[in-house]
Amino acid sequence: MGETSQGFNTLAIHAGAKPDPTTGARTTPIYQTTSYVFEDVDHAASLFGLQAFGNIYTRITNPTTAVLEERVATLEGGTAALAVASGHSAQLIAFHAVMSPGCNIVAPKRLYGGTINQLAHSFKNFGWEVNWAEDVSPAAFEKAIDENTRCVLIESLANPGGIVMDIAAIAEVAHAKGVPLMVDNTMATPYLCQPIKHGADIVLYSLTKFMAGHGNSMGGAIVDAGSFDWSASDKFPMLSTARPEYNGMVLHETFGPMAFAICARVLGLRDLGPAISPQNSFNILTGIETLALRMQRHSDNALKVAEFLQGHEKVGWVSYAGLENDPYYALHKVYCPKGAGAVFTFGLKGGYDAGLALVKSLKLFSHLANIGDTRSLVIHPASTTHRQLTDEQKISAGAGPDVVRLSIGIEDAEDIIADLEQALANC
Ligand SMILES: *Cc1c(COP(=O)(O)O)cnc(C)c1O
Repeated sequence: MGETSQGFNTLAIHAGAKPDPTTGARTTPIYQTTSYVFEDVDHAASLFGLQAFGNIYTRITNPTTAVLEERVATLEGGTAALAVASGHSAQLIAFHAVMSPGCNIVAPKRLYGGTINQLAHSFKNFGWEVNWAEDVSPAAFEKAIDENTRCVLIESLANPGGIVMDIAAIAEVAHAKGVPLMVDNTMATPYLCQPIKHGADIVLYSLTKFMAGHGNSMGGAIVDAGSFDWSASDKFPMLSTARPEYNGMVLHETFGPMAFAICARVLGLRDLGPAISPQNSFNILTGIETLALRMQRHSDNALKVAEFLQGHEKVGWVSYAGLENDPYYALHKVYCPKGAGAVFTFGLKGGYDAGLALVKSLKLFSHLANIGDTRSLVIHPASTTHRQLTDEQKISAGAGPDVVRLSIGIEDAEDIIADLEQALANC
């Protein structure tokens, strides 16, 4: 205990971990096992009845993954976390706990392109609807929420534009209507932004990005703030009514502030199945140890690159909240005071063709569909990640034809800028 009084850098290295009791191994071992021998028949029965916490099967819990879960929950200031196979499966499982056919999720269009696809198309098969907020103002969220809304979803720093959401104001609107606020904190990480402090009830992650940090492992997480009253209405029966599969247990009554995380594990992950591999949990834990160092460098480099681009004759506009003239600069000072992150977009005066020419000419930057690597990355969303969207959807998602998205790495800023300078000469 006493852990929560420690600083972020200390917790990023130590939270959840201790030397292995049997071998003394200092780093967290990779428990590469599917299953665990029960102590005796009573122990087995209590595990299956949720009367005791322990390992049954790696689809539901794993000791390597448990360290990752405790570390992410601690860094976010949550009560508990669940790690899963990817960011998208974290979203699926989080929504599964609150949604049923005919219900809706309220979300802005300023979201990761894959999330727009998931919400707008795949979730339709479950009868889950989306009420899109017209813009990112709290009033637009208020207007979009109706009696069938079960949650509001936003990204703290929205992919791809790097714009900053007014988390506290949106949380207030959601709470007044009796629904939780879920915040995807993938782009900011808990180093730059802690949504729970501003009123978020659930924090979602693609751990694949900055948390893992090296472009080598997929993972996702759901963090429970422990703040939402799931029993205040009849909107959340998975949490507030008797579960037949657990002898009539009511999860919110039994587990209180950890009820959502437990529900996501013992119903969502158990039955939908996207478990993270212990090897990936290990890789992500290693990544998180350097999170603070990396995120500061990512943000510092990104600001230098954004300033360079803003002054370049071939560049029409730059959308980076760290720039003083950016419309989201003031919100960035409130929600991510240490930096505005690594991912942002800019527009080329030469439009679609110039975007392709830039991507072709860059040498240090890798052209690929990821963010949050140590390496600098580039993509032209209109021809790749956002190409399934209509032109109108592309523009409202901040991915119009002239838009280039960068994820600035932790190389030397001078080298990143030099690569952009030589490539812009061809645009
Ligand atoms: C990548 C990403 C996701 C999806 O995560 P995966 O790990 O790729 O499944 C969700 N939200 C944001 C903001 C992302 O960048």
